[in-house]
Amino acid sequence: AKARGGNRYELADPDSDARTISRHTLTTHLPAALENEEFFIEYQPLVRMADGSVEGAEALVRWAHPRHGVLGPDRFIPLAEHTGLIVPLGRWVLEQAVRQACEWQVRGIGGTRPLRVNVNLSPRQLRHQELVSETVAVLRDAGLDPSSLCLEVTESALIRADDDELKPLRRLADLGVRIALDDFGTGYSNLASLRRLPASTLKLDRSFTQGLQQDPADPVDLKVVDGIVSLAHALDLAVTVEGVETAAQAAQLRRLGCDSAQGWYYARPGPPESLVCAMPMAAGQ
Ligand code: C2E
Ligand code: CA
Ligand code: CA
Ligand code: CA
Repeated sequence: AKARGGNRYELADPDSDARTISRHTLTTHLPAALENEEFFIEYQPLVRMADGSVEGAEALVRWAHPRHGVLGPDRFIPLAEHTGLIVPLGRWVLEQAVRQACEWQVRGIGGTRPLRVNVNLSPRQLRHQELVSETVAVLRDAGLDPSSLCLEVTESALIRADDDELKPLRRLADLGVRIALDDFGTGYSNLASLRRLPASTLKLDRSFTQGLQQDPADPVDLKVVDGIVSLAHALDLAVTVEGVETAAQAAQLRRLGCDSAQGWYYARPGPPESLVCAMPMAAGQ
């Protein structure tokens, strides 16, 4: 791992030898890595577009591989998903993230509105029998209000899910946990299917924000995002946009009525303390 800016990690260079470690090798090392606590979490702020305040942060897992440096989740989450290790790994991420949210709240970071933490849930976890009971137990043990947790499930996973698979999410939503439709716009939802999902938030995929990068923005992309935002709001869904990298994008997305945003323009993923820096108001507390 190369530390940059003091406390930020660069993921292993795609051209380095880390690229060449076989999937098989990584897969066989995963269980021991969990045992040896080689995983860690970075947090990326979610910013309210209306006033620039931080509403929460997304937990993003990384693997500090003892020989190959820091590996990004795209390298190992699909493998963990395949072997089923995603269930204990996902539970570990949830525990860490929920504890972290508690700590932020106890320290008063986020001001009067409690900070939320977003945790990614893979399709395999969605089918895991104990999802509801474990999530409830983790929240209770930490003393975190369910509304301070948002579970992110990809649009494509939710669209594929049948009613039985949606039940645990409905149950969690009934308990106050927020559900976000991740990577929205890549999964070919139709209007009818959106209505049956227990989601409170739609996370617009980065591919949509990219078209708004030029100045002037691509007029078709503008219309598409405008339409999605109107649709989401009509269905009572909040809209978070991913991958905001420039001030021009942020301004456009704000004009289009997006509720919150996430991206390098605001902050890169970083250690839990970096959220304090993202909130100058709370830094002195
Ligand atoms: P995601 O849920 O769509 O997360 C957003 C990804 O976009 C993150 O990549 C984040 O670092 C990156 N990103 C944020 N802002 C920007 C930006 O302005 N520009 C660009 N180009 N990228 C940006 P990351 O951390 O590599 O994570 C990749 C994926 O791995 C995530 O995509 C998520 O699907 C998965 N993942 C991460 N942590 C977990 C986890 O704990 N459990 C599960 N099941 N999946 C996870
Ligand atoms: Ca996500
Ligand atoms: Ca996403
Ligand atoms: Ca994505």
